[in-house]
Amino acid sequence: MKIILAKSAGYCFGVRDAVNAAYDVSKEHGEVYMLGDIVHNENVVEDLEKKGVKVVENLEEIPEDKPVLFRAHGTSKDVWKKAEDKKMNIIDATCPLVHDIHREVKELHAEGRKIIIIGDHGHDEVIGIASQVEGAIIIASIEEAQKLRKTKKAGIVSQSTQAIENVQDIINILMTKVVDLRFINTICFPTKRNHQQIKELSVITDMMLIIGSFTSANSKRLTELSLERNKNTYQVTNAAEIDSSWFKNNINSVGISAGASTPDWIIDSVIKKVKELTNTTEKEIIHESRVRF
Ligand code: SF4
Repeated sequence: MKIILAKSAGYCFGVRDAVNAAYDVSKEHGEVYMLGDIVHNENVVEDLEKKGVKVVENLEEIPEDKPVLFRAHGTSKDVWKKAEDKKMNIIDATCPLVHDIHREVKELHAEGRKIIIIGDHGHDEVIGIASQVEGAIIIASIEEAQKLRKTKKAGIVSQSTQAIENVQDIINILMTKVVDLRFINTICFPTKRNHQQIKELSVITDMMLIIGSFTSANSKRLTELSLERNKNTYQVTNAAEIDSSWFKNNINSVGISAGASTPDWIIDSVIKKVKELTNTTEKEIIHESRVRF
């Protein structure tokens, strides 16, 4: 079996840095608190918990002498203010690319534009972006874009992990609704690379395995990108979910990628399992796209 691994599979630098910061800070302070899970991955969250990284619902639950870590995909403005007012020890693990989106949104707003965010409703990153300015609108789909009222001046950004196709489809509709439209493409480069590699791998392999949590919209998006090009696409959260029957019927090559919340050890265990099930001894090939972002 030819196994090809997408080079950008798994943790992006933003998530990797935030997870490492959580381990480091808990080691230094005994405990560190976060508002919600740092990644959509049950195995990682469990391990972090054992090391003193605690997940709470609100700031009131955090003991006064313990630090709070703000996660990679950003924190809403009112939570920041509240933590500052309480003089909490804030560890900012927000990805610099998410900080960039916050800055872009404020600049667009200062130009007198209505802010439109192309992203998933209820996603923490989108909530954080929307909180930067008054009256931001979130649009997740073509159907929602079609319902938008005519607007004179709008500034548009996207959630960092959106698929470019969805963003383009929505922009096309918004162009018919907004007179003066300014779009800043804020899909981050690790996402663009991973999406591109999945698109390429899914057409050159017989089967695709996408590793990621079913609770993560971002992982589901990777699976959709692959499924659109290769019907033998399966999403798994770990190696145990791989079914040996998937490798029957002329499957001679498998492409593997993973969502930004998937740690290296889960990717390694999936590769190991595929090798065991297919009696493969050759080392996996790493796929890097020729397209540069
Ligand atoms: S997905 Fe992109 S923006 Fe989000 S944390 Fe990772 S690198 Fe940063």
